[in-house]
Amino acid sequence: SLVLAAATSTTTDIKDIYSEKYILLFVKMSNLRWIGESAIRGSLTWQVLVPAMRRALIAFSQGPDHDQGAVQPLRTAVPVHQQGGTLMVMPGYVPGEGALATKLVSMFPRNAAKGLSTHSAIVMLLNPDTGIPEALLEGGSITELRTAAASAVATLELMNDKSQAKGPVIAVLGAGVQGQAHARVLNHLLKPSKVRIWSRTMSSCTAVCEILRGEGIPAEVAATVQDAVVDADIINTCTLAQQPILKMKWLKASVHINSVGAPRPDMQELEEELVRSAVIYADSREAAYKEAGDIIKSGAEVFAEIGELLTGKCEAHKDKITIFKSLGLAVEDAVAAKIVYNSLEGNSKTAT
Ligand code: NDP
Repeated sequence: SLVLAAATSTTTDIKDIYSEKYILLFVKMSNLRWIGESAIRGSLTWQVLVPAMRRALIAFSQGPDHDQGAVQPLRTAVPVHQQGGTLMVMPGYVPGEGALATKLVSMFPRNAAKGLSTHSAIVMLLNPDTGIPEALLEGGSITELRTAAASAVATLELMNDKSQAKGPVIAVLGAGVQGQAHARVLNHLLKPSKVRIWSRTMSSCTAVCEILRGEGIPAEVAATVQDAVVDADIINTCTLAQQPILKMKWLKASVHINSVGAPRPDMQELEEELVRSAVIYADSREAAYKEAGDIIKSGAEVFAEIGELLTGKCEAHKDKITIFKSLGLAVEDAVAAKIVYNSLEGNSKTAT
């Protein structure tokens, strides 16, 4: 737990003290390679990660009966009721990538009020031939990047072709870690005409838009959710909302929605009528029915897994409202971690 706390904290002083003193000591003693955030960000460019997530999503849907298919049980979730938090354990194996890993990730929404990160994670990568642990990786950056890359894969398959041609209008609800990553990857891939961002706290939304504009992203602050999504071609819901914030009456008939938040049965971001009316593609059908508040509370049916769409097993209903229900897959973490590890092989023992 010390390593998890130290490795994933965003508080600079804790990170400095603990990562220097304890993580490196732990890593030395266990002969594990420690891979920190900057090395991860250096390896996981969108050019590398988006196709890698495509492969991971396909492998997941092929499943263990296919020789290259992934093995991944539903993650274990431990509610921490006293803090409104959840600890999740996410193991996965992708034979075609040689990627065997497990992630520990916690979601503590009340951390935001304490100035702490709401999500903390660490990934352990194991040798697929021996089962021996090879590396520990900072998991917050992997989670951030692989989630946005998976949404990008779904968007490329499901967005309406006409909107792609004209430079789409993108809406992002939530200006936190995921909101920013989604703005970045979709800007990189689609060259949007506008990226409208709404967040609960206007000051943080304004600050994030400024940062994104500095990176060349056409980001604009939206005062309300409705202002953000009206005429939008692609909507990304990336909040910790507990109740629906997005209504169907505001939306275009062919909008694509990446539904990233509400990863627990007690959380919702989307109006129930909207979820029931849309064609839903999930990263995992099983996880959508067991974990996703928007699916569970609306009683909507999942049309297909995105991995099934990617292998041509079902149709892309681009003329309708489509939802990519993302819960996040352990195999995405495993593939991303393996890419980072491979890219650093031959470099120094500890990458930071
Ligand atoms: P952050 O804490 O970085 O950002 C949270 C965002 O949600 C902020 O914009 C915050 O607004 C907003 N918010 C918080 N509470 C509420 C509320 N009650 N109503 C509306 N907005 C609210 O979190 P992340 O960006 O890391 O995560 C966003 C969502 O994505 C979470 O639900 C998370 O669990 C999920 N997630 C999903 C993954 C997947 O694979 N599908 C992976 C990782 C995360 P403000 O700060 O402006 O007040």
